[in-house]
Amino acid sequence: MKNLNIQSFFPECLRVIEIIKEKQITIKLKSLKHQQKCQVCGQEMTGYHGTYVRTVQDLPILGKNVILEITAYEYNCTNEDCIQKTLVEDYDEFLSKYSRMTSRCEDFIRILALSTSCEGAALICAKMGLKVSGDTIIRMLKKMADENPVPQCGDTIGVDDFAYRKGQTYCTVVCDWETRRPVAVLEGRDGESLRKWLQENKHIKKVTRDRASAYAKVISEVLPEAMQIADRFHLYQNLLSAVKEALKVELPNKIPIPNTAPEVSEETVVNTTTINDTDELKKNRKNK
Ligand SMILES: [Zn+2]
Repeated sequence: MKNLNIQSFFPECLRVIEIIKEKQITIKLKSLKHQQKCQVCGQEMTGYHGTYVRTVQDLPILGKNVILEITAYEYNCTNEDCIQKTLVEDYDEFLSKYSRMTSRCEDFIRILALSTSCEGAALICAKMGLKVSGDTIIRMLKKMADENPVPQCGDTIGVDDFAYRKGQTYCTVVCDWETRRPVAVLEGRDGESLRKWLQENKHIKKVTRDRASAYAKVISEVLPEAMQIADRFHLYQNLLSAVKEALKVELPNKIPIPNTAPEVSEETVVNTTTINDTDELKKNRKNK
């Protein structure tokens, strides 16, 4: 293949008119739509009242920045009761109404931001020739979150705390038992944010949690019928702490390891015998 069909990278309703290669690549497109649905009242408009050139960014190709110049149409909503007077076109999944970049460009920036940070993504984009600020990327992520609300979780959840900043800021995470995915990240670990969340999710029937009393108290108050389960991880953790405490009391801080090799000296054997003596151990610990 020697020629690349640029038209195949655009929806059918946008026809490529001209490609200009300078410092950047400018692709001129013409809208073939001639109709638009009002986003407020749903009225279908076919008569446009004007045209304008819409400039948007697309993904860079071969190290060059790509700008689209789209000759698009404007419409007036013909429904007299509608509050929306002027309408502009959108192009299916390709470009939304007021966006200044294509959807594939937005997708790329969002993935970059989620893998790095909003400011980090803005810096990488600037190096690639994409103009977008960190604040704009934050708005793009918020919009994505609004458009894709977290689905309601099942009736079994796991609750635990984690350090956002160790020793300073703690949060509470709620995970859906079925999907094993987080469904809420809440401020603090004193249980108050969990109380609010549970009040909005009264379908919860089982909660696995650590053995701290803050969560237990809140769950009992908001959902008295819910079964509370001490999860295996925290049971093991508690058992380990208890064993550690018991060993601290019973054993000295330092235990010499007896040398059992054949060439062992007589003195080492004597020491080993001493170590095995329980009374001597206690004496040893007291001296420390
Ligand atoms: Zn309308």
